Amino acid sequence: MRIARSEIETASLAGGERTLSISGNLGELMAGEPGRTAHAYSGDLRVRPHGRGIRLSGSVESTLSLMCDRCAQPYDLPVTGEVDVLLSDAIDASGYSGDSVLVVLGPEDNWIDLANPLRDALLLELPQKRLCRSDCKGLCPHCGKNLNEGSCSCEALAQDDRWAPLLDIKRKLERA
Ligand SMILES: [Zn+2]
Ligand SMILES: [Zn+2]
Repeated sequence: MRIARSEIETASLAGGERTLSISGNLGELMAGEPGRTAHAYSGDLRVRPHGRGIRLSGSVESTLSLMCDRCAQPYDLPVTGEVDVLLSDAIDASGYSGDSVLVVLGPEDNWIDLANPLRDALLLELPQKRLCRSDCKGLCPHCGKNLNEGSCSCEALAQDDRWAPLLDIKRKLERA
Protein backbone atom coordinates (compact mmCIF):
# COMPACT_ATOMS: atom_id res chain seq x y z
CA MET A 1 0.00 0.00 0.00
CA ARG A 2 1.96 2.97 -1.27
CA ILE A 3 0.64 6.51 -1.28
CA ALA A 4 2.17 9.50 -2.99
CA ARG A 5 3.64 11.82 -0.40
CA SER A 6 2.26 14.80 -2.31
CA GLU A 7 -1.27 13.41 -1.95
CA ILE A 8 -0.97 13.20 1.82
CA GLU A 9 0.69 16.59 2.13
CA THR A 10 -2.01 18.21 0.01
CA ALA A 11 -4.74 16.62 2.14
CA SER A 12 -3.00 17.78 5.30
CA LEU A 13 -2.53 21.34 4.08
CA ALA A 14 -6.20 21.59 3.17
CA GLY A 15 -6.94 21.55 6.90
CA GLY A 16 -10.04 20.26 8.59
CA GLU A 17 -10.97 16.62 8.34
CA ARG A 18 -9.61 14.88 5.33
CA THR A 19 -10.02 11.18 4.80
CA LEU A 20 -7.72 8.89 2.94
CA SER A 21 -9.25 5.64 1.79
CA ILE A 22 -6.99 2.65 1.77
CA SER A 23 -7.59 -0.73 0.23
CA GLY A 24 -5.70 -3.66 -1.12
CA ASN A 25 -5.09 -7.33 -0.88
CA LEU A 26 -3.97 -8.97 2.32
CA GLY A 27 -1.61 -11.31 0.52
CA GLU A 28 0.60 -8.34 -0.33
CA LEU A 29 0.84 -7.29 3.31
CA MET A 30 1.22 -10.65 4.93
CA ALA A 31 3.88 -12.54 3.03
CA GLY A 32 5.03 -15.29 5.37
CA GLU A 33 2.78 -14.22 8.25
CA PRO A 34 0.05 -16.22 9.93
CA GLY A 35 -3.30 -15.13 8.66
CA ARG A 36 -2.08 -14.57 5.15
CA THR A 37 -5.00 -14.77 2.76
CA ALA A 38 -6.38 -13.51 -0.49
CA HIS A 39 -8.91 -11.44 1.45
CA ALA A 40 -9.12 -7.75 0.78
CA TYR A 41 -8.50 -5.07 3.38
CA SER A 42 -9.91 -1.60 3.49
CA GLY A 43 -10.18 1.38 5.76
CA ASP A 44 -10.35 5.12 6.16
CA LEU A 45 -7.56 7.16 7.71
CA ARG A 46 -7.95 10.71 8.96
CA VAL A 47 -5.20 13.02 7.76
CA ARG A 48 -4.21 15.84 10.10
CA PRO A 49 -1.20 18.06 10.62
CA HIS A 50 0.58 17.04 13.80
CA GLY A 51 3.44 19.18 15.03
CA ARG A 52 5.85 19.34 12.14
CA GLY A 53 4.52 16.10 10.70
CA ILE A 54 1.30 14.56 9.46
CA ARG A 55 -0.74 12.09 11.43
CA LEU A 56 -2.78 9.31 9.81
CA SER A 57 -5.22 7.57 12.08
CA GLY A 58 -8.20 5.32 11.66
CA SER A 59 -8.90 1.67 11.26
CA VAL A 60 -8.29 -1.10 8.78
CA GLU A 61 -10.68 -4.01 8.33
CA SER A 62 -9.96 -7.40 6.93
CA THR A 63 -10.41 -11.11 7.43
CA LEU A 64 -7.63 -13.39 8.64
CA SER A 65 -7.57 -17.04 7.66
CA LEU A 66 -6.47 -19.01 10.68
CA MET A 67 -6.13 -22.61 11.76
CA CYS A 68 -8.14 -23.76 14.75
CA ASP A 69 -5.90 -24.84 17.66
CA ARG A 70 -8.31 -27.62 18.60
CA CYS A 71 -9.64 -29.16 15.40
CA ALA A 72 -6.92 -28.00 12.96
CA GLN A 73 -9.54 -26.78 10.49
CA PRO A 74 -9.09 -23.45 8.69
CA TYR A 75 -11.49 -20.68 9.63
CA ASP A 76 -11.95 -17.01 8.87
CA LEU A 77 -11.76 -14.32 11.52
CA PRO A 78 -12.96 -10.79 10.70
CA VAL A 79 -10.70 -8.21 12.37
CA THR A 80 -10.50 -4.45 12.72
CA GLY A 81 -7.10 -2.99 13.55
CA GLU A 82 -6.36 0.51 14.78
CA VAL A 83 -3.88 2.47 12.69
CA ASP A 84 -2.02 5.48 14.01
CA VAL A 85 0.96 6.65 11.99
CA LEU A 86 2.98 9.82 12.32
CA LEU A 87 4.83 10.85 9.18
CA SER A 88 7.61 13.30 9.82
CA ASP A 89 10.92 14.43 8.47
CA ALA A 90 11.69 16.33 11.61
CA ILE A 91 11.57 13.98 14.58
CA ASP A 92 14.60 12.50 16.26
CA ALA A 93 13.37 8.90 16.36
CA SER A 94 15.46 8.06 19.44
CA GLY A 95 13.64 10.70 21.46
CA TYR A 96 10.17 9.97 20.11
CA SER A 97 7.72 8.74 22.71
CA GLY A 98 4.28 9.17 21.15
CA ASP A 99 1.76 6.39 20.66
CA SER A 100 1.80 6.59 16.88
CA VAL A 101 3.96 4.43 14.69
CA LEU A 102 6.67 6.78 13.54
CA VAL A 103 7.61 6.89 9.87
CA VAL A 104 10.54 9.21 9.26
CA LEU A 105 10.68 10.57 5.75
CA GLY A 106 13.85 11.51 3.97
CA PRO A 107 13.89 14.34 1.43
CA GLU A 108 13.89 11.80 -1.40
CA ASP A 109 10.93 9.77 -0.15
CA ASN A 110 8.17 10.60 -2.59
CA TRP A 111 6.17 7.51 -1.76
CA ILE A 112 4.96 6.42 1.63
CA ASP A 113 4.64 2.71 2.20
CA LEU A 114 1.93 1.87 4.73
CA ALA A 115 2.30 -1.90 4.37
CA ASN A 116 4.15 -2.38 7.68
CA PRO A 117 1.86 -0.25 9.86
CA LEU A 118 -1.24 -1.84 8.29
CA ARG A 119 0.10 -5.34 8.71
CA ASP A 120 1.10 -4.72 12.32
CA ALA A 121 -2.33 -3.25 13.11
CA LEU A 122 -4.01 -6.40 11.80
CA LEU A 123 -1.58 -8.86 13.39
CA LEU A 124 -2.18 -7.22 16.78
CA GLU A 125 -5.71 -8.57 16.48
CA LEU A 126 -4.53 -12.17 16.25
CA PRO A 127 -6.09 -14.02 19.16
CA GLN A 128 -3.75 -15.94 21.47
CA LYS A 129 -6.06 -18.91 21.40
CA ARG A 130 -7.32 -19.57 17.90
CA LEU A 131 -10.63 -21.35 17.88
CA CYS A 132 -13.00 -21.82 14.95
CA ARG A 133 -15.79 -21.35 17.50
CA SER A 134 -15.76 -20.96 21.26
CA ASP A 135 -17.22 -24.41 21.83
CA CYS A 136 -15.08 -26.26 19.30
CA LYS A 137 -14.95 -29.89 20.39
CA GLY A 138 -11.60 -30.60 18.74
CA LEU A 139 -10.31 -33.91 17.50
CA CYS A 140 -10.64 -37.27 19.19
CA PRO A 141 -7.18 -38.08 20.64
CA HIS A 142 -7.70 -41.74 19.77
CA CYS A 143 -9.08 -41.85 16.25
CA GLY A 144 -8.57 -38.23 15.12
CA LYS A 145 -12.20 -37.71 14.16
CA ASN A 146 -13.37 -34.09 14.13
CA LEU A 147 -15.84 -34.17 17.00
CA ASN A 148 -17.66 -31.10 15.68
CA GLU A 149 -18.95 -33.37 12.93
CA GLY A 150 -20.24 -36.01 15.29
CA SER A 151 -19.02 -38.27 18.05
CA CYS A 152 -16.95 -41.39 17.69
CA SER A 153 -17.13 -44.55 19.74
CA CYS A 154 -13.71 -44.16 21.40
CA GLU A 155 -14.81 -42.20 24.45
CA ALA A 156 -17.44 -44.64 25.62
CA LEU A 157 -14.91 -47.45 25.37
CA ALA A 158 -12.04 -45.51 26.96
CA GLN A 159 -14.08 -44.66 30.04
CA ASP A 160 -14.11 -48.28 31.04
CA ASP A 161 -10.68 -49.87 31.55
CA ARG A 162 -12.07 -53.30 30.90
CA TRP A 163 -12.58 -52.30 27.29
CA ALA A 164 -8.99 -51.06 26.83
CA PRO A 165 -7.80 -54.27 25.08
CA LEU A 166 -10.81 -54.10 22.78
CA LEU A 167 -10.05 -50.48 21.99
CA ASP A 168 -6.53 -51.51 20.95
CA ILE A 169 -7.95 -54.09 18.57
CA LYS A 170 -10.40 -51.53 17.20
CA ARG A 171 -7.57 -49.09 16.49
CA LYS A 172 -5.50 -51.76 14.79
CA LEU A 173 -8.44 -52.71 12.63
CA GLU A 174 -9.06 -49.07 11.70
CA ARG A 175 -5.44 -48.61 10.70
CA ALA A 176 -5.38 -51.73 8.63
ZN1 LIG B 1 -12.06 -25.94 15.81
ZN1 LIG C 1 -12.40 -41.42 18.46
